[in-house]
Amino acid sequence: MRNPATGELAGKVAIDSADAVAAKVRELRLFQPEWEAIGPDGRKEWLLKLQDWLVDNTDHLADVVQSETGKARIDSLIDPAFAIDLTGYYARRAAKFLADEHPSPHSPLARVKTLTTVFRPYPVVGVITPWNFPLAMPAIDVIPALAAGAAVILKPSEVTPLTAIELARGWEEIGAPPVFAVVNGTGETGAAVVDNVDYVQFTGSTPTGRKIAAACTERMIPYSLELGGKDPAIVLADADLDRAAHGIAFGGLFNAGQVCISVERVYVEAPVYDEFLRKLTAAVNEVRQGVDGREPKFDMGALANESQAQIVQKHVEQAIQAGARLLTGGKRTGVGTLFEPTVLADVDHTMTCMTDETFGPTLPVMKVADEAEAVRLANDSIYGLSASVWSGDKGRAERIARQLNAGAVNINDVFSNMFSFALPMGGWGQSGVGARWGGPNGVRKYCRQQAITKPLLPTQTKELLWFPYS
Ligand code: NAD
Repeated sequence: MRNPATGELAGKVAIDSADAVAAKVRELRLFQPEWEAIGPDGRKEWLLKLQDWLVDNTDHLADVVQSETGKARIDSLIDPAFAIDLTGYYARRAAKFLADEHPSPHSPLARVKTLTTVFRPYPVVGVITPWNFPLAMPAIDVIPALAAGAAVILKPSEVTPLTAIELARGWEEIGAPPVFAVVNGTGETGAAVVDNVDYVQFTGSTPTGRKIAAACTERMIPYSLELGGKDPAIVLADADLDRAAHGIAFGGLFNAGQVCISVERVYVEAPVYDEFLRKLTAAVNEVRQGVDGREPKFDMGALANESQAQIVQKHVEQAIQAGARLLTGGKRTGVGTLFEPTVLADVDHTMTCMTDETFGPTLPVMKVADEAEAVRLANDSIYGLSASVWSGDKGRAERIARQLNAGAVNINDVFSNMFSFALPMGGWGQSGVGARWGGPNGVRKYCRQQAITKPLLPTQTKELLWFPYS
């Protein structure tokens, strides 16, 4: 692993074979029943210890994130900050989310029973993650799965395995039961995880998600997929254009655009198109880009690897060749994988920058006649992860939000859904399949539901419906 901003060696990692993965899962299976048996309150103690460990090791974890991603220092700190917040959230709420439920009986026959719904964890959950947030992405699923009482095997991206290894070290250092393990390697190691676990949670690209879904179906095990996105932002003529320009610049460029819920395309109503472009370009030109040390100096760093830089370049070049206007940026800086923050105007849906996930620091902007055209174009995508609507009239913005095909819509804002753990999080269309993350679903998705009935009345010799019929 090398820092893509500097070329410095970040670390070396041994690859786990399929046999090693199978052996690790067997070991996790031995310890899981006890982990389940201590209950959510017992697990809370361990998760809060882990949270303390994350707090104590924040700077070190940010160092590791930075070394394997070349991110700006601020972006590297977001990873541990997110993991800390999330760990506290699920540690404290899992008991409530997993409490038995007693639904009301619907018929006279059921009325004489006590009905209980119980949430029991899958024994071993496999979590497979991408490289864009080397700690936050693993944590987002590892923590709720552990809180649910499952044992967890994590296969982080081969591009950024070092931070995940630190998370496993933290779990060991606090002396927690051995119900969490990390295995390393490429897609082959990931496939071995899928072959051995009881539930797969995958976050990554849509093509890989498709392969994982097929493998899980073959094994008849459940899975959930958090996949790619092409998130639209709609700017209406009555919007606060200064706020919209700054919000959209942040939404498209945070983490150098390598966020599943990045703003990837912008639709602006015709009357404010030119003014918005001027404001957006000015906001983007304020972004300081460079190679950070430990003191935060820059707003934006490198792309995580060479192939990512090439995808971004290709999308920009193709758009310009097809007639888009380049307003700022548009090329690599010449340092590592850094790509300039870029604004493209006059784009349309024949261009890859408006249809394919770019996952880089680009903001392609298209003029639309009215809100109906904006909604039609925003929904013209195979993806449906999140979106934003910018308007001075919140009622109008919410009405538009309810017409968009997206798992989340932020009004006059970006990313808020991601930091509001109580909300369901997940994509529509080819952006996601299966149970949502967030709130009670976040832990319940790692559980099988079990129905238990028992007679309410003092035991009779026989029920009405038993033989012989009376
Ligand atoms: P990727 O699909 O290339 O890889 C993701 C993980 O899958 C890696 O750990 C990889 O080793 C593993 N893998 C590859 N082939 C596999 C196989 N056949 N079986 C099992 N595992 C396999 O994705 P990436 O390039 O690392 O990440 C970028 C993508 O992730 C983008 O599309 C982005 O939108 C998406 N993403 C989505 C979310 C979300 O919440 N929806 C969040 C972050 C990133």
